[in-house]
Amino acid sequence: MPLGNRECEEDWLKKIRTRQLRYSRQIPFAMMGDGGQQTLLESKALIVGLGGLGSIVGSYLAAAGVGHLTVVDDDVVEVSNLNRQFIYGDALGRLKAEAAADFFRRVNPQISVEPVSRSIQDVDLPWDMFDVAFDCLDNNESRMVLNERCYEAGVPLVHAGVDAMQGQVFTSIPNVTACLRCILPKGRQDRIPVFGPAAGAVASIQVSEGIRVLLERFPPLTGKMLLIDLSDYSFQTFEVRRAEDCPVCHH
Ligand SMILES: [Zn+2]
Repeated sequence: MPLGNRECEEDWLKKIRTRQLRYSRQIPFAMMGDGGQQTLLESKALIVGLGGLGSIVGSYLAAAGVGHLTVVDDDVVEVSNLNRQFIYGDALGRLKAEAAADFFRRVNPQISVEPVSRSIQDVDLPWDMFDVAFDCLDNNESRMVLNERCYEAGVPLVHAGVDAMQGQVFTSIPNVTACLRCILPKGRQDRIPVFGPAAGAVASIQVSEGIRVLLERFPPLTGKMLLIDLSDYSFQTFEVRRAEDCPVCHH
């Protein structure tokens, strides 16, 4: 704080009060603990895929005050995205990474957002710096690349996927749990139908897991797969074991 300069001091106090007010409704959670908000403000999260999952994951992370977001997607916004990717209502034809970064900055001007308009297959990222990564992709081919990079760099990865009214979430911690290669089939899927609220429900659980990772509050889906189905509101969880022949996590 620049002492001796009354105007600067007042500005600084105003900034602190605004920050306290912005997060005042989430700080009371026991999960946040002492200094939890500060931890979030200093955290670096990677979001790969900015469709139905990533657009919502990024919005909640920004609103919660996760201080540094890197958002990766090489797609442009199409009208068929808008049933679930509503942050792009005024961004048809724009690169998703750029449009999403603008939206997240509007949600919370106190955070930094770095857009990367490349596919995960051909981008070089400073993997070591991320505290958590979110798999918001729509195909397993790209997921395998993300899984391998995260595992090698020791970055916890919160995976999610949606198919019609169903979805899944799984948290992989390098050297502790199984990884995505252990459980997901290889290959690329065709365009899958997505019920907007299913993407919203799954993305919300994904954020809840990721924030627990950042706060070091044991995420309930560590090494466990949650399956949800909005057609009957069923939730099922099962343990995921390492595959003995997994080339990524089985050493
Ligand atoms: Zn594995």
